[in-house]
Amino acid sequence: MNMAGFYDESISNGLGWRAVLFVSGCPHNCPGCHNKIAQDFNYGKKFDKEDIINRICDNSILKGITISGGEPLCPENIKEVADFIEDVKKVRPQFNVWCYSGYTFEQLEARNDKETNRLLKDIDVLVDGRFVESEKKPNLMFRGSANQRIIDVPESLKVHKVVSLDL
Ligand code: SF4
Repeated sequence: MNMAGFYDESISNGLGWRAVLFVSGCPHNCPGCHNKIAQDFNYGKKFDKEDIINRICDNSILKGITISGGEPLCPENIKEVADFIEDVKKVRPQFNVWCYSGYTFEQLEARNDKETNRLLKDIDVLVDGRFVESEKKPNLMFRGSANQRIIDVPESLKVHKVVSLDL
């Protein structure tokens, strides 16, 4: 897997101070994509899991990590992302994980495959759905278009339907 970028600290990609990993590669090709260059799976540089984990471990200001892209949950990226988050949780068990995906929660739950289930159990908040240009609105918090939802994943998995995060 390649990564399109990494922020050691950000306050605008989820609640609290967070590291942010942008993975490379996305199959959705949404018109008006904010990060079109990251749709290419070969864009950026090779993802170095150990280096990123070291950078996270050394930073006591961080409350969590956000995984964005690109598409973290496409078949090409999901295993490496799930491995990464599992390893992050080993060194920072209380770390809060946000993830952006062009797939909806319903589509991900319906997959019911090993890697998707493994990753979903480690995600606290999913911002789901493709970017829809006609639904773009100013001042949307943590998302690009109004169709995208900010989802409490543990609660949603319990009841098998979307439970919005109480912001
Ligand atoms: S899901 Fe995100 S990265 Fe992928 S094409 Fe849509 S806006 Fe771009």
